[in-house]
Amino acid sequence: MSKPAFWKNAKRYYDLKSFWRNRFGCRVYKLPIDAGFTCPNRDGTVATGGCIYCDGRGSRLRQAGPLPSVTEQIRQGREYYRKHRHAGKFIAYFQTFTNTYGPIDLLRQLYDEALAEEDMIGLSVGTRPDCIPDDVIRLLENNTKQFHVWLELGLQSIHNKTLQVINRGHAAEVFLDAVQRASGKNIHICTHIIVGLPGETREDIIETARVLATLPVHGIKIHALLALKGTRMGDLYGQGKITLMEKDDYVQTVCDILEILPTEMVIQRLTADGYRDIFLAPPWAVNKMDVLNAIDGELDKRDTYQGIYYHRKGD
Ligand code: SF4
Repeated sequence: MSKPAFWKNAKRYYDLKSFWRNRFGCRVYKLPIDAGFTCPNRDGTVATGGCIYCDGRGSRLRQAGPLPSVTEQIRQGREYYRKHRHAGKFIAYFQTFTNTYGPIDLLRQLYDEALAEEDMIGLSVGTRPDCIPDDVIRLLENNTKQFHVWLELGLQSIHNKTLQVINRGHAAEVFLDAVQRASGKNIHICTHIIVGLPGETREDIIETARVLATLPVHGIKIHALLALKGTRMGDLYGQGKITLMEKDDYVQTVCDILEILPTEMVIQRLTADGYRDIFLAPPWAVNKMDVLNAIDGELDKRDTYQGIYYHRKGD
């Protein structure tokens, strides 16, 4: 297999920037929005305390005081990206906490407010797989008639034993059901996974990717597990009860994952970043560019690409 020509990029994987440039013919940027949502895994509806790696603070804007409106947040971000990145079009990214956790009329109002803004071509909504009832899927589907729509589902691991350890508050089957209900509706589905979760072997992690490769999933975000101050994970790390991945192990595992994903799956993220003020470990994860360069270097060394070991049914 050679590198797919349709990527039209210099990478060994299909990155989001290239996907959008190919589709829209210009630079597209996601504008992060904190619309003031909470999370059922924190407020007691599903569980309390949240996922053990979650800092629970919300966006920087929320930490700074009363949240500006969705419109204000978009206008500020848009000016920045126009000025500093020569951005052409924008996607409204409802990012903070669970962005479908509210009455349907409120969700419609917030999404419509974002989509009404100049140069806005779409929506990306981050949420939990146990928080997308059919009426929310219909709302997103309706928006696909005019806009480019992504649904970002946190999964983290396909293994229920791990989901219990990290206090996700839902089983893998809930994710599989959500994907099936949202698929075939012109909604692009992106799944978030974490590499290095407690108790998982490399084979466990690869198995998560292998399952995703069989599903109607269009994008993936791969995060490194971080220990952050103020989280249960941070406490466990401080007490010496968990070990975090070494950089080389992380890089090797991410490359193994890329090799088995379909070539069409858009790689939205390959490591975690941010959180500098509460960061504890692993030290290598602070330098995002270094990690990305190491992944590129390893793929060069292997002379492989995303999808090289992906096999469609019947192949
Ligand atoms: S689902 Fe997301 S917001 Fe909720 S506790 Fe887990 S990581 Fe935090």
